[in-house]
Amino acid sequence: MVQDTIPQRPPVDLAAVAEERGIKYFLISYTDLSGAQRAKLVPAVAIKDMQKNGAGFAGFAAAFQLSPADPDLVAVPDPTTLIQLPWKPEVGWLASDLKMHGQWIEQGPRNTLRRMIDRAAQVGLTVKTGVECEFFLLTPDGQTIGDAHDNAAKSCYDASALMRQYDVITEICDAMLELGWQPYQNDHEDANGQFEMNWIFDDAMVTADRHVFFKFMTRSIAEKHGLRATFMPKPFVNLTGSGCHAHISLWNNGRNVCHADGDPLGLSAEGYHFVGGLIENADALCAFLNPVVNSYKRINAPRTVSGATWSPNSVTYAGDNRTHMIRVPGKGRFEMRLPDGAANPYLLQASLLAAGLDGLERRLDPGKPLDINMYTDGHTVPDAKKLPLNLLDAVRALDASTAMRRLLGDGLVGPYINLKMEEWNAYCGHLSTWERQATLDC
Ligand code: ADP
Ligand code: MG
Ligand code: MG
Ligand code: MG
Ligand code: MG
Repeated sequence: MVQDTIPQRPPVDLAAVAEERGIKYFLISYTDLSGAQRAKLVPAVAIKDMQKNGAGFAGFAAAFQLSPADPDLVAVPDPTTLIQLPWKPEVGWLASDLKMHGQWIEQGPRNTLRRMIDRAAQVGLTVKTGVECEFFLLTPDGQTIGDAHDNAAKSCYDASALMRQYDVITEICDAMLELGWQPYQNDHEDANGQFEMNWIFDDAMVTADRHVFFKFMTRSIAEKHGLRATFMPKPFVNLTGSGCHAHISLWNNGRNVCHADGDPLGLSAEGYHFVGGLIENADALCAFLNPVVNSYKRINAPRTVSGATWSPNSVTYAGDNRTHMIRVPGKGRFEMRLPDGAANPYLLQASLLAAGLDGLERRLDPGKPLDINMYTDGHTVPDAKKLPLNLLDAVRALDASTAMRRLLGDGLVGPYINLKMEEWNAYCGHLSTWERQATLDC
């Protein structure tokens, strides 16, 4: 239940900052095991005590494996994460780490990512990551695409459909510019109603905190504009789903240790070992990267109306080729294309790091890169490992993975598996329309 690593807290006086910047309320927030953001709204006059002692929550009421009889889960805000909500600057948002019985708990997703970052640091590595959040803009009831005219079969990069959502997209992008995230592009993605907004990579924890905030901000600003933003992996069966590709590189003293000029893909031995770890642990990783029942309708999916799913169907890697699980888009970095919009932003990074570190520690070999269109020619490599077909297979793979248990910690993996089994069992208890149609006349 406990972990040793105590996050460093800089001597920032939040009460003074509130006074200076006109912050009336703080939103002390944290991310639970399921990836949901939970929070308490705390008036600035009460922040002094909360900054020191944290805000109390009943952990059982959020998605944690805790009992109603457990003492308070305490969220201790990290003042370095402070963001004044761009759409309501009188509120100061803070990410928090979680304590119970006075100690940091292993179930805390942000605590877990910190453990993995520290583990990488012990072998001299700083981890830099970037994420590409895809999302749909829907009508408020979540049933249909928010823009009725956005219905072309090939809608990727559609200039008019992008410009019809100009007000909402630019309000989010302006906010990122103001926050110094260095956003650099926004586009209409492959599915009708689907968008992606990109900002530049940074340290893994900075990216994870921004990822959490981006989802919150996008939902909030979309709502202001009478729309509903969703990061659901596959909201429409015939349209491309929402991924959350993660780009990774490893650094030592300002040098990218994944980079090697002489190599055809521009990867060093360390880079290949890290990729080897992602390949070796791919099925267990799916439990974190594709964490919901719906995730498995995005990966392994049949062609969408646009002609491709853009999501992986096998455990393979390649150079600049988007039909594989891992793409090496440029020298010294790789893109993991498995994660989807439902992934817990902290566990996404923590699990990738754990798998990659396993590869480095065991000097795993990823095999040869493939150079084929995996969607049309996948059958030519019949021995390519397949991805889990559903959440249950992924959770079982995680359960059986000694590497993930060892690196992420049983205190995280055990509760996470319990949570996902509860979800799977709830799904199995649901009688679907398809089942009735297919079976009523049996
Ligand atoms: P694509 O759509 O081609 O996959 P994007 O431009 O949408 O790529 O996103 C690329 C992401 O990768 C961005 O967040 C970018 O900052 C990040 N990135 C670029 N170089 C690195 C690197 N060396 N390490 C980690 N992330 C990187
Ligand atoms: Mg109460
Ligand atoms: Mg992109
Ligand atoms: Mg995309
Ligand atoms: Mg990508």
